[in-house]
Amino acid sequence: MGKKSREGPIRGLAGACCVRCRVRLEACVCDVLAAHAGEGGLATGTPLHLVLHAGEAKKSTNTGYLAARALAGSVVHLHGREGRAIVPRPRALVLTPEGRPLAARDAGRPVFVIDAAWRQARRMRRKLPALVEAEPVRLAPGPPSRYALRVGPTPAHLSTLEAVARAWGVLEGPAHREALEAILDVFVERSLALRGVKRSG
Ligand SMILES: [Zn+2]
Repeated sequence: MGKKSREGPIRGLAGACCVRCRVRLEACVCDVLAAHAGEGGLATGTPLHLVLHAGEAKKSTNTGYLAARALAGSVVHLHGREGRAIVPRPRALVLTPEGRPLAARDAGRPVFVIDAAWRQARRMRRKLPALVEAEPVRLAPGPPSRYALRVGPTPAHLSTLEAVARAWGVLEGPAHREALEAILDVFVERSLALRGVKRSG
């Protein structure tokens, strides 16, 4: 592990970041996190295990870390240069584009969510033992992505925070989904404002 990761320039990080939410200071969403998820994050019986690619962690458009901040008890596993081996979890699930549909009865099982570029994510799923051992689950088809900061391969491809919102909506109920999507919307809006873009619709 780590052999193939590259150290690149810190893309997108033109300014200083908030140490708590890791969003650009001018777009800090700590207030929104506190309002929608409370100081310690939303209570959940289903632990989020975010597998964050080191390259992804540096991007100002990253949403996985926000998901981890918004759900209490989340664990962030950094994969890449300084990443450690991830210990497989018994009965764990991994969110993938394939797999069987995620169901409410899966609540309480640890869920690995990979936060990386699409191609990296596929490679990690094949290579990391903790992910190979986990049972693959997928989200039911839903509305197109609301994430306007990057272009996915198709509108059905979701940002990590959106995918977590929909997954926890299934696992914990609609209030979790709504809170997480509200955080995403403000993050996108403020990030676009920083770029001088006003969101239409
Ligand atoms: Zn902040």
